[in-house]
Amino acid sequence: ITRAEKVAAAAPPTTDRAVIEQRVARARRAADAGVPRPVEWREAQLKALRAMVLENRERFEQALWTDLRKNATEAQVTELSQVVAEVDHALKNLRSWMKPQRASLPLVLQPASARLEAEPLGTVLVIAPWNYPVQLLLVPVLGAIAAGNAVVLKPSEITPHVSALLAELVPQHLDPDAVQIVEGGVEETTALLEHRFDHIVFTGNGTVGRVVMRAAAEHLTPVTLELGGKSPLWFDDDAHLEEAARRFAWAKYLNAGQTCIAPDYVLTTPERVGPLAAAIERAIEALYGDAGTSPDFGRIVSPKQFDRTAAYIAQGEVLVGGQTQREDLFIAPTVLRMEQPADPAAERTEATTPAVLREEIFAPILPIVPVADVDAAIAYIRADEKPLALYVFTADDAVREALIARTSSGAVVDGAAILQAAAPTVPFGGVGESGMGSYHGQTSFERFSHRKPVVTKPYAPETLRMIMPPFSAAKRAI
Ligand code: NAD
Repeated sequence: ITRAEKVAAAAPPTTDRAVIEQRVARARRAADAGVPRPVEWREAQLKALRAMVLENRERFEQALWTDLRKNATEAQVTELSQVVAEVDHALKNLRSWMKPQRASLPLVLQPASARLEAEPLGTVLVIAPWNYPVQLLLVPVLGAIAAGNAVVLKPSEITPHVSALLAELVPQHLDPDAVQIVEGGVEETTALLEHRFDHIVFTGNGTVGRVVMRAAAEHLTPVTLELGGKSPLWFDDDAHLEEAARRFAWAKYLNAGQTCIAPDYVLTTPERVGPLAAAIERAIEALYGDAGTSPDFGRIVSPKQFDRTAAYIAQGEVLVGGQTQREDLFIAPTVLRMEQPADPAAERTEATTPAVLREEIFAPILPIVPVADVDAAIAYIRADEKPLALYVFTADDAVREALIARTSSGAVVDGAAILQAAAPTVPFGGVGESGMGSYHGQTSFERFSHRKPVVTKPYAPETLRMIMPPFSAAKRAI
């Protein structure tokens, strides 16, 4: 039995509607009763979540291997240790984040004082995708817990082994009232979205993001949307060939290219295309040897994703890789040379541009688009939606600053890729079509809190008379 058959035959997880109702109601009741508010509860839950990950590390690694053929070390680096680092950061800083912030007041209001209390929102729904199915679920969850909320978790149905493991472990380790998990796909998520939540975090594609936001609007529920897009990479003529190629080959081919912040495509000058492709080929060899047999290289998650993405290979000139094996859901690390666009600023339509340059790729396929210079690259980037990330490889400060100033993206990384997601101190999120609202670290805490001003005014001296009727010329002059 092949990988493709095994994946296709796996029954997706489901949850009965009645069970969904019960679980949502239970989380809400806990929130209403104030269960998740005390700092002690938050700290205990954060520690329990950390223990859940650490004690079951091998089971998580196994589930990620089964669903995505994610190497155990990669699973550790990009999923499990991310969760642990976020928990540790939150535990270390939680009490200081929770302190009311003082706000100063203008002289006319004095004497008076104001503080901004961090109030939990209530119940937070977290809907996760399949590509990093552990950390993209648990990092928002731990932020919501740190901010004192009840949480309902919805893992992706496309990674059923990870989903089943979480469904087993979450009720064992976390508060059985305030933290609820619901497995399932479209039907279950649709049922969940009928309920009123106090915040929804959705990570996935923009089409479903719109479905989520529409459902949220019904209840005036605020949303955080972590979406995708085509993250460009500018490779300048003066950028270091070997080191740059190895860094971005790693970022691109990680998880078989199924990373929301992977470099989607490269922009460089026509002369650099050949040498760059050769350097990427050497980098691929150094990283994986033979990717087809390497235990370090992942697989495409499903036959559906395989068919969509394998079709991209024929849309450019194959400079590196290009091999595929459907039974194994394998696509080799691939580099494509694309035609130089006549007008980089032109709108890219079905008639003018192949799909690989219009759609988010989400596979180990890297098109290189030749452009005349950095101005053309900026025009090309600006002609598309705002991406989740922009990667810059240049030795020229003016070029780097021009790219930063004249384009908009969720984040910029200079000299590397994907590192922006690895630090709890750096807010993570998109802008425009790549999403709204960011999280990680204290940004999560603020995202899942309401900063409630509490203004206190003593009765004496009674300065408010100065602005009350009866009015007079003297009062008007104040
Ligand atoms: P997806 O949008 O298909 O699914 C995400 C979640 O939504 C899943 O839990 C799924 O069950 C649910 N869902 C799917 N269709 C639904 C519907 N019609 N109604 C209600 N719920 C529905 O996303 P995906 O394919 O799992 O993930 C890939 C996408 O996610 C890519 O676009 C990628 O860029 C993006 N992504 C973004 C980030 C980020 O942090 N910004 C991270 C990872 C992935």
